[in-house]
Amino acid sequence: MARLSSTVAPGHWTNYDRGCHLTCECGDDIRKHMKLEDDSLKSLIKQSEIIYPEGSLVGALVSFPVGDGTAKYVVTSMRPLAMQHVPHGDSYRIPDAYIRGLRVEDIRKGLRFEKFWRDLANEKSNGRD
Ligand SMILES: [Zn+2]
Repeated sequence: MARLSSTVAPGHWTNYDRGCHLTCECGDDIRKHMKLEDDSLKSLIKQSEIIYPEGSLVGALVSFPVGDGTAKYVVTSMRPLAMQHVPHGDSYRIPDAYIRGLRVEDIRKGLRFEKFWRDLANEKSNGRD
């Protein structure tokens, strides 16, 4: 079982709660906003990639398929397992009830899956099949 934080992951995100994606300091500069938002996500990905799936999962970025994208969360605590929403892009979420049903092993399985595909992509880009 996991808890869901009332705050979102650190980063430069669209604030849908305020009714508009242009309510941040970027004003009307949507390209600047999207660049800062993508940089925020890249930072979370980089942080997550160094997490070993069998160790502490704090900082792990977890994605769940939703609609035409993914709902993203970061693990903020192991005991109790706690997650923070990452409101990237369309800010997709999964139902809070799904979060409450998550177990640590579900997060480890997701990280192993992502590591498998990342390692495979790295092997291909290094010229191996
Ligand atoms: Zn912005």
